[in-house]
Amino acid sequence: MVPVSNALTRVADHKARVAGLVGATPVVAAPVADCLGLVLARDLVAPVALPPFDNSAMDGYAVRAADVAAVPVELPVAQDVPAGRTDLVPLEPGTAHRIMTGAPVPEGADAVVQVEWTDGGTSAVRVDRSVAPGQNVRRAADDVAPGTTVLTAGTPLGPAQLGLAAALGFGELPVRRRPRVLVLSTGSELVGPGVPLAPGQIYESNGVMLAAAVREAGGEAELLRFVPDDVAQFHAAVESRIASFDLLLTSGGVSAGAYEVVKDAFTGRGVEFTKVAMQPGGPQGAGRYRGVAVATLPGNPVSAQVSFEVFVRPALRAAMGFRQVERPTAVARLNAPVSSPAGRTQFRRGAYDPASGRVVTPVGGPGSHLLSALAVSDCLIEVPEDVTELAAGDEVVVRLLHG
Ligand code: AMP
Ligand code: MG
Repeated sequence: MVPVSNALTRVADHKARVAGLVGATPVVAAPVADCLGLVLARDLVAPVALPPFDNSAMDGYAVRAADVAAVPVELPVAQDVPAGRTDLVPLEPGTAHRIMTGAPVPEGADAVVQVEWTDGGTSAVRVDRSVAPGQNVRRAADDVAPGTTVLTAGTPLGPAQLGLAAALGFGELPVRRRPRVLVLSTGSELVGPGVPLAPGQIYESNGVMLAAAVREAGGEAELLRFVPDDVAQFHAAVESRIASFDLLLTSGGVSAGAYEVVKDAFTGRGVEFTKVAMQPGGPQGAGRYRGVAVATLPGNPVSAQVSFEVFVRPALRAAMGFRQVERPTAVARLNAPVSSPAGRTQFRRGAYDPASGRVVTPVGGPGSHLLSALAVSDCLIEVPEDVTELAAGDEVVVRLLHG
């Protein structure tokens, strides 16, 4: 067991710190159609029954079961009842109503004969097979009785949950609103697309990546991509916008060199900078500036994205009310050896194949600039702090990034 150096902050501690900064977002009433991927903030109680009325499960004929007990039998067709008909006429004994799926079963009828068991007549119908009382009738409240709690607070809202809410007549649902994140990229070397690169320049990528990561986590992102390594300009960019956000997420300018603009601008102003016992993603900062939560991620693209996964994504998910804030994990067998620095949790990029016996292939090396390897990976392989060597065949925990 290799002890973590005192100089390093533990991954779990920094994670707790970031989670503590981003509080739960307020509960709002959001249109049902906009609630996909949000979390229900209060129990949902059915205001109406489902189905709201007895209705036909089949296209066919509403009858009294007793009238078709002996078959074949011919009955006059007294009414035509398509779905949506609201002026219901009771069924007289010895008659049938032609009825469509979802149409209200008239008073007096206790069963529906499906059209396939008849001659399909419109003025009179020959019924060839008997039905039992209740057959092909979907009873009112069969699914949901009014007053029932159908979904509890904390339920993630997917298509089925939204469908249920809509079926119960809800136009809006109580949810915690999406966290608003200002994604700010620092670096005087950064340029945008369409500009030929001068020597020393690179195309900005962290901003695009982190804003997408925020959205994928369920948040809203505003992107500010080209803030130069100049403290005054950094402050101007932050000051003019920060107030309307729940989180300021920066990348770059936090390591040990000169011109570390984020560090220079925020040191002594509510943001604490530290080195976390992980690879990649050691240099981190977190705190509060002008009342707004701040997480400062390192500039190397893989470090930025891995730090987002480890520290920021769970915090955003918690803010939205998710109980399960972590990615799903799996235990997999490495199919190649990996080595890892002592005293640091290593997050290697991997390709996980559950089909072939839960095997994971490390993709690319440990370098935090290897963006193309990140782009073809689908999991992070977690190598614990105290482990420095793993052989092919060893078991590791993988975080599934698309789960
Ligand atoms: P820094 O932490 O600012 O020293 O940046 C570390 C490395 O990441 C340098 O090679 C930077 O050029 C690169 N980098 C920083 N920010 C970005 C960005 N937004 N997009 C792409 N690369 C970046
Ligand atoms: Mg930089």
